[in-house]
Amino acid sequence: MASFRRKKVVLVTGGAGFVGSHLCERLISDGHMVVCLDNLLTGRMQNIEPLLNHPDFRFIRQDILERIVWTGPLDEIYNLACPASPPLYQRDPIHTFRTCTEGVLNLLSLARTTGARILQASTSEVYGDPEIPLQHEGYRGCVNTVGPRACYDEGKRAAETLFWEFGTHQGLDVRIARIFNTYGPRMSPEDGRVVSNFIVQALTGVDITIYGDGMQTRSFCYVDDLVAGLMALMASETTDPVNLGNPGEFTMRHLADMVLRQTGSASRLVHCPLPVDDPRQRRPDISKAAERLGWAPTVPLEEGIARTIRHFAGEVQVDGEREVGLHHA
Ligand code: NAD
Ligand code: UDP
Repeated sequence: MASFRRKKVVLVTGGAGFVGSHLCERLISDGHMVVCLDNLLTGRMQNIEPLLNHPDFRFIRQDILERIVWTGPLDEIYNLACPASPPLYQRDPIHTFRTCTEGVLNLLSLARTTGARILQASTSEVYGDPEIPLQHEGYRGCVNTVGPRACYDEGKRAAETLFWEFGTHQGLDVRIARIFNTYGPRMSPEDGRVVSNFIVQALTGVDITIYGDGMQTRSFCYVDDLVAGLMALMASETTDPVNLGNPGEFTMRHLADMVLRQTGSASRLVHCPLPVDDPRQRRPDISKAAERLGWAPTVPLEEGIARTIRHFAGEVQVDGEREVGLHHA
C-alpha cells in the first residue's frame, strides 16, 4: 500500500554551516520544503550551492538576533545557528552568547506564533570538563563560568534552560540534542577544529599541531549519523535532552596517527600549548537515544575519516602526488 507523507515546511537556522547543510540536503531529499537562514558567519554558500536552484529550497541571509518575519505555515525549526569551533566562537564571545540566548528567544517566539516544533542543537560542552568517563544526560557537568569557553558552554546551557522553560511552562513543543564532536565533508578547512586541522595539515604537508600531550580524548561522530539522530529526535516525543554522538573514544594522538597513515603524509607531529579549559575526556552515553529513538551511529571513525580526507583532497592544494584516503588498512 502506498504511504503518503505530508510535505513539511522546515526552517534550518545555521543551515549553511557544516552540519546544517547536510541536514538541509537530507530534508530536501525526503521531500520537504526547507528555508535555510544563516548570517554566513562561519557557514559558506558553497555548502548549499547544489540546493539553491531546488524549487523547495530557499536561503535567507540573516542573523537570528534580528526579528524573523514569517508568513505561512511552519512545521519544524532546527536551530543550528552558532559557531561550533572554539577559535571561532571565541572570536566574538558576546555575539556567541547573544546568539545562544537572544537568538534562541527569537526562535522560541517564532515557534510560539507558528506552532512549530523546535529543536535546539545543544552540545556535550554543557558537561564542560567532565569528571566522569561516560557522560549521561543526568550528569550536571563541570563548567567554568568565566573562562574562554564560557561564552559557548554557558550560552548553550542557558539555551537549554530557555527551551525547558518554554516547553514546560508555555506549552512549546521542544527538542534538545546534546551533540558530541561531529566531523565529515564540508567542515571548513579553516575552522580550526581538530579533524579539519589534522587532515588539511597532512594533505598540505605541514606540521600536525597536537595541543598538549595529545592524550585528551574525544568521541567523533560522522555527520550522516548525526543528521539521522537529529531527525529521529525531532520525530520523537522526547522533550528532555538527548545525547547524540559516537561512543568510540580516541586520543588526539591516535587521531593524528590515523590521519597520517590514511593520507600517507610525511608531516611531523608537533606539540603546541593546550588551550585553557580544554576538556580532558569526552564520551557519550547514548543509551537514551537508543531506547527512545532507536538510533545508534553506524560509521566507524576509520571509514568516516577516509571519506572526509577524500572530500578535503578536492578542496585544498594537496602536497605531492598522493592517492589520498586509500591508505587505511
Ligand atoms: P558551523 O560553524 O559550521 O555552522 C554554524 C552555522 O551557524 C554557520 O553557517 C554560521 O554562519 C551560522 N551562524 C552562526 N551564528 C549565527 C547567527 N547569530 N545567526 C545566524 N546564523 C548564524 O558549525 P556546525 O559544526 O555545523 O555546528 C552546527 C550546530 O551544532 C551549532 O549550533 C553547534 O553549536 C552545534 N554542535 C556542533 C558540534 C560539532 O561537532 N559539529 C558539536 C556540538 C554542537
Ligand atoms: N586539538 C589539537 N590540535 C588542533 C586542534 C585541536 O590537538 O589542531 C585538540 C583540542 O585541544 C581538543 C581536541 O583536539 O583537545 C578537540 O578539539 P576541537 O576544537 O575539534 O573540539 P572541542 O575541543 O570543542 O571538543
